[in-house]
Amino acid sequence: MGGFGSGRQSQRATTEELQMIDIRVWHREGLLIPGIRFQNLWHQFPTNTGYADVKVHRNCVQICRPKNFADRSAGIIDYTVSIDRTPCHFGGTRPWFICPNMDCGHRVAILYADSIYACRRCYDLAYQSQRESASDRAERQAAKIRRRLGWDPGIFDAEGGKPKGMHWKTFDTLCDRHEGYTHAAALDILALLKIV
Ligand SMILES: [Zn+2]
Repeated sequence: MGGFGSGRQSQRATTEELQMIDIRVWHREGLLIPGIRFQNLWHQFPTNTGYADVKVHRNCVQICRPKNFADRSAGIIDYTVSIDRTPCHFGGTRPWFICPNMDCGHRVAILYADSIYACRRCYDLAYQSQRESASDRAERQAAKIRRRLGWDPGIFDAEGGKPKGMHWKTFDTLCDRHEGYTHAAALDILALLKIV
């Protein structure tokens, strides 16, 4: 799954903002019959109006949709999503999507589409790892400045003084940058802990 979760450095769309397909709805509407083609529409005005063409096969569905609904020349995304069925208590079967993310493969009722289709858990994990890497970057930069200033290594440790021989202007600039990085790292950590 090349590029999974990439391209969103700042804020991830919430699951409400992502395009969503729900296999329970398709099942309820009697659409999961091999050979049937239908269009799944989204009407979440104004930003999320779009569609996907769906073709139903025996054990999978083929889903085609424009990469970018605002720019149709950007090409299409053609996805095949496997379907699994589990027996119901009172007879019949219940269909599930198999999450197409190869690291996942869970049975789910809902898939979300951003750059790819994946389950909510996958999007959450991608989000977390992105947040962690942003925080790591800020920490690394802060640690580099602390080394240059000869301060204790922990980025949340107390700040030290100006090293001998360093110009005050350089020292002030480094202190400002250090503060920016520690602030960014702290915010990321707080966000991960869901405090802010
Ligand atoms: Zn998944």
